Amino acid sequence: MSYLGAIEAGGTKMICALGREDGSVLESVSIPTTEPARCMPQILEFFQGRGIDALGVGCFGLLDLDRNSQTYGCITTTPKLRWRNYPIMRCLQDALGVPVGIDTDVNAAALAEATWGCSRGLGCSIYITVGTGIGVGIIVDGKPHHGMIHPECGHIPVNRRSDDPMVRGVCPYHGSCLEGLACGPAIESRWGRSPAELADCEAVWALEAYYLGQALCSYIYTISPERIVLGGGVMNQQQLLPLIRAEVNRQLGGYIKGKGLNDLDSYIVSSSLGGRQGIMGCLRLAADALEEVQHGS
Ligand code: ADP
Ligand code: ZN
Repeated sequence: MSYLGAIEAGGTKMICALGREDGSVLESVSIPTTEPARCMPQILEFFQGRGIDALGVGCFGLLDLDRNSQTYGCITTTPKLRWRNYPIMRCLQDALGVPVGIDTDVNAAALAEATWGCSRGLGCSIYITVGTGIGVGIIVDGKPHHGMIHPECGHIPVNRRSDDPMVRGVCPYHGSCLEGLACGPAIESRWGRSPAELADCEAVWALEAYYLGQALCSYIYTISPERIVLGGGVMNQQQLLPLIRAEVNRQLGGYIKGKGLNDLDSYIVSSSLGGRQGIMGCLRLAADALEEVQHGS
């Protein structure tokens, strides 16, 4: 068994872990996401001298994932100014001297679900996180889909419900995109209380399901996933998932039938990895990076 490092690099915290290629986490620490000059030395201190064979990074921001690019493995667009254009992969590789695999944070989580979780064995699946932002990871033939950059399906336009008390959503780029209307901070901005405190307010979750239902229908039409997995802080609201399924059923309008859509309870599911999907996906990225240098695959 190899000894692998993993970093789940999020907007508020960096979870650093040591683990194995079977996804088991042996040890982990959480480091606040301050600016790189402060944060990176703390991350390196955790890994240095621990004998890891490879490192996997699931990272926030838009990333350059084009292996032929000069800026491969850099964070590109992000509201966090100090991290803009930061060559996170190269810095880690240079400092630790091991192969580093990198992907978006949601692609890492999607990969973990496809490797060990509820999308195991499926050709095409998606993982959606509904948290501080909304992100979507897409797995095709066992691999995260990148395409031109990487999909940013959390920012698709959705129809604002006419009685939504929030006139403009919170996305700094688009206002009322899906993320702008349905992420955790959008719920808080609309209703004036944190989503966790709104557990008993039916109207909150009906509206949330209306937006997420629209998004899921769009993903079904465009990606045709064989399973949809939902995670992230907002999905802690257990009442939300059945509401989303009902919205998807209603909004599809009977247009697509059969296959997974016959049983929405097993087609649209919550993560089965208990919140560890992000860091486990990073371990898988590390294992893949190691495999690549060992076998050139
Ligand atoms: P991040 O997206 O930053 O990685 P999370 O997935 O934990 O982190 O998402 C954070 C968001 O989830 C916040 O907007 C928070 O209000 C919301 N959240 C956290 N816990 C709950 C809960 N129990 N119920 C509803 N929303 C929650
Ligand atoms: Zn947006």
